[in-house]
Amino acid sequence: MLKRSETYTVNVGGVEIGSAHPIRVQSMTNTDTSDVNSTVDQILELYDAGSEIVRVTVNDEESAMSIPAIKSKLLQFNSNIPIVGDFHFNGHILLSKYPETAQVLDKYRINPGNVGGKGKFDRNFEQIINLAIENDKPIRIGGNWGSLQKTDLDKIISEKQDSNNTVDYSKLMRNCLIDSVISSAKKAEALGLAANKIILSCKTSNVSDLIDVYTEVSSICKYPLHLGLTEAGLGRDAIISSVSALSILISRGIGDTIRVSLTPDSQKSRSEEVQVCQQILSSLGIRNYKPKVVSCPGCGRTTNDYFVKLSKSIKHMIDDNMGQWKKKYPGVEDLTVAVMGCIVNGPGESKHADIGISLPGNNEDPHAPVFIDGKKFKTLSGDNIEEQFIDIIQVYIDERYN
Ligand code: SF4
Repeated sequence: MLKRSETYTVNVGGVEIGSAHPIRVQSMTNTDTSDVNSTVDQILELYDAGSEIVRVTVNDEESAMSIPAIKSKLLQFNSNIPIVGDFHFNGHILLSKYPETAQVLDKYRINPGNVGGKGKFDRNFEQIINLAIENDKPIRIGGNWGSLQKTDLDKIISEKQDSNNTVDYSKLMRNCLIDSVISSAKKAEALGLAANKIILSCKTSNVSDLIDVYTEVSSICKYPLHLGLTEAGLGRDAIISSVSALSILISRGIGDTIRVSLTPDSQKSRSEEVQVCQQILSSLGIRNYKPKVVSCPGCGRTTNDYFVKLSKSIKHMIDDNMGQWKKKYPGVEDLTVAVMGCIVNGPGESKHADIGISLPGNNEDPHAPVFIDGKKFKTLSGDNIEEQFIDIIQVYIDERYN
């Protein structure tokens, strides 16, 4: 298996992906791309949440025509976030018919299964690759096992029949998906696209298949890999599946850019997918985006919920201030604050954090020792422990990061 540092580096609108560069977080809009204002608003929301690249659907003439206006509006808002066009079935037509769109987009995403059937694949694929070369754009060849090429599916069915159904169908699908993206990448290179203009993805909706597929792909090519579980589903189920799959791959050194796909929830912001990506990277100790609050789960040793309330207050303080802190306090995202419920793990965990507080559990003295940089700083008591502790955090941040 290749280490991440051995992959090519692909430049997507100024954001470098692959090799030793940080794992990039990306997201995708779900607005109608031809609605320029709504699409720009959502891109800005995703950008503000920390998305480093945003993909938009380009499925018809109206959406293709809107791309230059979207890009120019984003620049008016001082956002130069790279925009990726997602093409299926008619990418070769839209990119040819709208040269400004082909120029303005920072990357094209195509799916080999949706480039053209009935003998049209080669011609359409060549047209898109030539446009990428002319416009000096990278391409993501994004296979998805929900949309394999018909010829590949026919091959799977016949292999299965020839083997009297003894062959593992899922394994055939995995091999087919890998063959599809690798052979498409080689074909693109043969047509003249540089190897460092290609990113691959091989998405499945099943965690163990995804791990097997990416582990295999990473061992046979040097293209940077875009990780993501496709059709991950709704809410918590989708988040848990995505976190499981991506964490295993990333901890094996596989993956250069990530996206978590969540079925839209009208009660939640689209930027949740960005936050989940950031939390994966932050939990793995790869990249921090904001100070971390370590808090204990509580147990029978503490029957009051004061430590829960205090943890939430500190989290709100961080969320409310992070926008300003990012500019004013470089490095503040690496801060760790511990809020613990009793003396069992309280002092120890608090000492491991930059700042920690150990609140009193049942039958303990009503005092709360505070630790800074591993040493006891002072003991808080009384009715306003929360205000005192928040003041201590603010002073610490100001002195350490200003
Ligand atoms: S720190 Fe104390 S209250 Fe919190 S989980 Fe551990 S034993 Fe329970």
